[in-house]
Amino acid sequence: MKVRAIIFDLDGTVVETPYDWAQIREELGTKGVSILSYLSALEEPEKSLKWNILKKYEDAATHKAKLKKDIRPFFTFLARRKIKRALVTNNSRKNVRFLLKKFNLKFDWVISRERGLWKPSGASFLEVLRKLKIKKEECCVVGDSHFDIKAAKEAGIEKIFILRRNKEKFYSSGAIVVITVNALQKKIERLLKP
Ligand SMILES: [Mg+2]
Repeated sequence: MKVRAIIFDLDGTVVETPYDWAQIREELGTKGVSILSYLSALEEPEKSLKWNILKKYEDAATHKAKLKKDIRPFFTFLARRKIKRALVTNNSRKNVRFLLKKFNLKFDWVISRERGLWKPSGASFLEVLRKLKIKKEECCVVGDSHFDIKAAKEAGIEKIFILRRNKEKFYSSGAIVVITVNALQKKIERLLKP
């Protein structure tokens, strides 16, 4: 298979960020709706108030972020093989810039939530394919949540890798679950073999 690009999620995938999403959802009162959709639909003044709660959690987690183990050598591996890297995240532009600068990371295309194409919608992935001139068959998605899987499927991207310890959450999701970046690299290497 020809792999010409990989779309990465940011939090939990490229960087380890200590989010307690269950706690955040509870504090915001999202009741099963995705956080960004929930917040966008609110009226003022509740809207600003709750956005600020989310931003407070995001800023705290972002400042504690650590680079995922082995991600840098994996990026070097991809660069050597001329495989492009895109970053698609529901996090803010401000936090993305902070993290890319902090860890000196570069991507061929970056989409943050200000673009308005939030996961689980596949719209942002389709935009990446268009901008990088890549076919969906030539692209893989690497993430850590069901949002990443849903977005990939909606965009028609079939090769989905999930970096997680608890595999059982992703049984029958159609994604390949790997525990480490090293294991992910081995899977990609195998895909590249003719
Ligand atoms: Mg994530």
